Amino acid sequence: MGEVTGTKAAETSSDVRLEKTRRDFLKDSGGLCLALSSFGAGVTPVFAEKGSVASGDQTYATWEDIYRKEWRWDKTVWGSHTNTCWPSGSCKFHVYVRNGIVWREEIAAQMPAVNSNYVDYNPLGCQKGSAFNNNLYGNERVKFPLKRVGERGEGKWKRISWDQATTEIAEAIVDSYVSRGPDGFVIDSPHVHSGPVAWTGGFRMSYLMDGVQPDLVVDTSDTMFGAKHTFGKANMGYSMDNLLDAELIVLTHSNISYTFPVSYHFVTEARYKGAEVVVVAPDFNPTAPAADIHVPVHVGCDAAFWLGVCQVMIAEGMVDKDFAGEQTDLPLLVRHDNGKYLSAADLNGGDEKQFYFWDEASKSLAEASRETLKIEGTPALEGTHAVALHDGTQVEVEPVFEILKRRLNDQYTPEKASEKSGVPVSLVKEMGRKIAAKRTCFYLGFTMPKHYHGDLMERSIYLACALSGNWGKPGTGYTMWGFPDDHILFLSIMDKTTAEGGVDALLHQEEELSNNLRKGDPTINGEMVNIEMMKHVTDLVGGVPPVFWNYYHLGYKELWNKKEWGDPTLKKTFDGYVNEAIEKGWWDGRHLRPAPDNSPEVLMLICHNPLRRKRSGRIMYPKHLFPKLKMMFTLEPRMSSSAMYCDIVLPCAWYYEKHDMVFPCSGNPFFTFIDKAVEPPGECKQEWEIMSLILRKVGEVASARGLTEFTDHFGNKRRYDELYDKFTLGEKLISNEDCLKEQIAILEKTGVMPKGYTYEKFREEGQVRYHGSGVGNTKYAAANDYSPDKPFYSMRYHVEGKRIYPTRARRAQFYIDHDWYLDAGEELPVHKQPPDIGGQHPFRVTGGHPRVSIHSTHLSNTFLNRLHRGQPLVHINDKDAAALGIEDGDMVRMYNDFSESELMARVAPTIQPKQCVVYFWDAYQYKKWFPYDSMLIGMPKALHLAGGYEQFEPYFTVTGPQQTDRGIRVNLEKAKPA
Ligand code: SF4
Repeated sequence: MGEVTGTKAAETSSDVRLEKTRRDFLKDSGGLCLALSSFGAGVTPVFAEKGSVASGDQTYATWEDIYRKEWRWDKTVWGSHTNTCWPSGSCKFHVYVRNGIVWREEIAAQMPAVNSNYVDYNPLGCQKGSAFNNNLYGNERVKFPLKRVGERGEGKWKRISWDQATTEIAEAIVDSYVSRGPDGFVIDSPHVHSGPVAWTGGFRMSYLMDGVQPDLVVDTSDTMFGAKHTFGKANMGYSMDNLLDAELIVLTHSNISYTFPVSYHFVTEARYKGAEVVVVAPDFNPTAPAADIHVPVHVGCDAAFWLGVCQVMIAEGMVDKDFAGEQTDLPLLVRHDNGKYLSAADLNGGDEKQFYFWDEASKSLAEASRETLKIEGTPALEGTHAVALHDGTQVEVEPVFEILKRRLNDQYTPEKASEKSGVPVSLVKEMGRKIAAKRTCFYLGFTMPKHYHGDLMERSIYLACALSGNWGKPGTGYTMWGFPDDHILFLSIMDKTTAEGGVDALLHQEEELSNNLRKGDPTINGEMVNIEMMKHVTDLVGGVPPVFWNYYHLGYKELWNKKEWGDPTLKKTFDGYVNEAIEKGWWDGRHLRPAPDNSPEVLMLICHNPLRRKRSGRIMYPKHLFPKLKMMFTLEPRMSSSAMYCDIVLPCAWYYEKHDMVFPCSGNPFFTFIDKAVEPPGECKQEWEIMSLILRKVGEVASARGLTEFTDHFGNKRRYDELYDKFTLGEKLISNEDCLKEQIAILEKTGVMPKGYTYEKFREEGQVRYHGSGVGNTKYAAANDYSPDKPFYSMRYHVEGKRIYPTRARRAQFYIDHDWYLDAGEELPVHKQPPDIGGQHPFRVTGGHPRVSIHSTHLSNTFLNRLHRGQPLVHINDKDAAALGIEDGDMVRMYNDFSESELMARVAPTIQPKQCVVYFWDAYQYKKWFPYDSMLIGMPKALHLAGGYEQFEPYFTVTGPQQTDRGIRVNLEKAKPA
């Protein structure tokens, strides 16, 4: 569409006023400027004061005049927001510009349905996006490079030039390379909030500098480790219109009406079409009123409920035996004596990964193929057999299903499941019968992996799906990442442009890898090759598991080894697991970066706010990391809680101020163009340009010191003075627009966008649907080709094509015969009480995203803050509140063994007793800047340090244990008056 001229504003005194105000804004040097924004966006009184009272000009004395001005503009362009409102987002907006200011934005509502049998995605847009112009000109905006002049976090700044800022940063980087090597430079971590170009830039910078970057997805605890355990992968999502093919929709661990309002209409429309909707959540959350059934599970006790559901299916003979027998390890035989799968190594000294089932047709052992799920014979799910081993001994073996059935009957009858989960017996039975009978689609929110035993909850749900045949078909699946957005990151490691063969070179590398791997094991398939490639690329870009970064460098070691907070079912301390895992070589120098004895010196943040987001980060960063850092700098459009602690803040262009795009990784299958509607304010620059400046300056500083090379962690030499040239591919990639054009070329080349699709067409149309699955990791993980005229669901090729899974058993694996899992009693899905992380306190705190913000981006938006109480809240049950003498609106002290915070009480009978809910806020919005997040401790599950087992191998987005934060123990009391 490009620019469209709208109703031209007449040249009136009010236009002069607008122009004056725009200039005021752009001139303003601090973070506290007056912002011209849209009518009603919380700034109208200030605007009116400037426009009328101060000058004596009464043009804007009445609200009607301002309202009329709202509907005049100079141009409109396409826009959207890259604040990671996954799994949907990517909403297409008209952005209205007047006098160089984004005056307002409006949902375009132009997204077509896949075909006439499905509803479309419209309107697709939320209140945060619709009020974003208020953020753009909000008080938190940073407009000039700032240097800290007081103590870290004291809030004293001085404005400096770009040259001074980049020189000081480059000096610190070169210092750190000289004293610490590349491990001294940590990017924590490139955040996709900054947009695909800047996100890619962060990876590319780390790739070229051999830096270190803790895996952001794992650090945010968004990795579904239960899926990784079961399927050997985690990215298997669906498009939201897939819900319309479901007969039963289960929403759990996501308050979707709050957090994904743009997708929620698919739930209500599916219900209108006849689907039943079930919400599984401790509280009667805002999504529950529109559901048919609310399952009031106790906090952290989901696995007990789901295992009860599985028991019902088995006890009542409702198991889809063909599906379970073919797709899963349930028919594989396990030895009674040691709990391990019966293997060829046991029987004849052969392959230790060749497993067996009992063939009912031939009444004998049969090999489970490692190349296909297709079964020759009739696998038995039940029965016990005696088999002779090659050493002459005899052992009893039985299928995994037999063990499972026994345990479920023993521990998870509806009555026992009810006792453990809090869900009524009748509801456990009803859900078992419903799921067995109906095509069921799950919406698993990202709260689940943030529970300490979230993996067990997930595995229990997947078990219910396996028993009922509920994956790999239309109207089934789980909400995870499923779209081939990973292709944009190709640019991180390309040494040439697409036109020069950059993509071909990467594909050639993967082909070579494939040939080599298949020489060793001809049964390896494309997915397994791709996983090996992912491991290599993760190492290339410096991607490391956050657990070691946190443990050795941020002081979490002292928290995670506290016995009283730990998992009482584990036999070792956290340290014990760390040491054993390292001794066994499961984690090595590729993962332990920076090495435990090599402190980082320079920390770079890219639109990332770890002091808000990281569990207890508000305490751990200042206490443990900051003293080691000689430089901490950030690239940010706004003053976040983390930016407030930096030494240098580099101001960035925000949405509408640079060419960019949005790609959803699941949910809504559209890329959306973001045009550069206006110039950024002050001296803001695009992140890519800032990174280029820093790298050029690093080369100059090194040369001035007579330094030419550094040694990377592979032992190779790299030149400082080549960094800039390599980053920009010989100055072909200078601006966001250059990079975006290159990313479109990659997407077209790999078939993710339609053949022949161009940047110019994208800019004109503003949006394009995913066209194909491309050639990257998601293509394999999702195991279905994307088709533009059908809803998307995952794992079809496993079910229809009998493609093996990348697990040890090469099937969906519910039995993990790893020694640690056997030892912990987690070889099968099981319910375990969440540990008492935080101490012996009566409440368990849950929470997540607020309704009014995507992450912390919009939390200070004055317009949105008028829609609610505008300050940190804790939601508590009315009876709990009464017992504590707390009334609605009182200030409450929340505390545990580690920290405390003050919030306002919102008393609500919808909250489960002894649960409390906090939808987060930015740290600086709390008293003394102490957020409730400081109490969360972030204890990872030590078992996730296990290695030496196919599906535990780490690579980007699934690199080791992640912090947990749901169900943490806290107490509440009425706050004392200040
Ligand atoms: Fe859509 Fe995200 Fe923008 Fe909201 S913030 S309108 S969900 S892109």
